[in-house]
Amino acid sequence: MTDATADRPVVHLSGLDKSFPTKGGGETAALQGIDLDVQTGEFISLIGPSGCGKSTLLRIVGDLIEPTAGSVEVNGKSARQARVDRDYGIVFQAPVLFDWRSVEANVRLPLEISGVTGAERDKRIDEMLDLVELSGFRDHYPHQLSGGMQQRVAIARALALQPALLLMDEPFGALDEMTRERLNAEVLRIWRATGKTVIFVTHSIPEAVFLSTRAVVMSPRPGRISHVVDVDLPQPRSEDSRETDRYYELVTEVREALRGRTPDADKPDTDTPGTDEPASPSQERARAEGSFG
Ligand code: ADP
Ligand code: MG
Repeated sequence: MTDATADRPVVHLSGLDKSFPTKGGGETAALQGIDLDVQTGEFISLIGPSGCGKSTLLRIVGDLIEPTAGSVEVNGKSARQARVDRDYGIVFQAPVLFDWRSVEANVRLPLEISGVTGAERDKRIDEMLDLVELSGFRDHYPHQLSGGMQQRVAIARALALQPALLLMDEPFGALDEMTRERLNAEVLRIWRATGKTVIFVTHSIPEAVFLSTRAVVMSPRPGRISHVVDVDLPQPRSEDSRETDRYYELVTEVREALRGRTPDADKPDTDTPGTDEPASPSQERARAEGSFG
């Protein structure tokens, strides 16, 4: 699982299309012409309206489904080979935990499957539980945990095999806003501590801006990449980052991109908002509270 080859992207997507057959014998075009390179250590969010193909794209990267056209490389090899090599950890929207296994046993599962045993296995489990701050809950069962804690177990499990790439599909979408913000901070801490490359699907603008180094904005079906926003908020980020003017500017930039209003959108420039006279930070603050989707 060495991914240290300089300048080679962790993920290289080129000309990806995906269509699904429909019942009537037709086709749904879910993705069209997706080109994207993700570099080592980036935190990429995929943001776009419901049904635009975010999950489909993530699932193609993770080799859970195949594209109709185009190519996918992960660590310089096929997505299939990357999966065989266990280069991925995947976290889904609903924490997929085994109810009859304790927290510790859930985290142990991928290690068992891939034959990691003995002291090395125990050390990894301890490290992972420590990382997600659940060491005190190792003997609990999933039903004894809050939704946020369950999702932290899922993250620990996804990281147990030390994958180069962590794929997360709206992992906090079902949680309340306070819990989501806390877990966002936790994900950033984990990202910094482990140096992982992350691709994170969300439909929340604040979440995308707070977490990402780049926000990849997708258009409605068929999903295409309409805009990529460099999120240059300084690292390390904290709750205070959400109070900065730059944060609100970036929230606005992502919001405008989602609306299809970008500097290069094909609209008359008499109607281009935002760029010359940005809204005041307090106006942005009010608008930033909402999410999109
Ligand atoms: P998002 O995650 O952005 O909400 P999805 O990737 O789940 O969007 O879906 C994109 C489009 O592809 C939708 O129109 C959805 O109905 C369709 N789609 C996704 N998966 C399948 C599938 N397995 N079979 C048929 N259609 C699908
Ligand atoms: Mg989805």
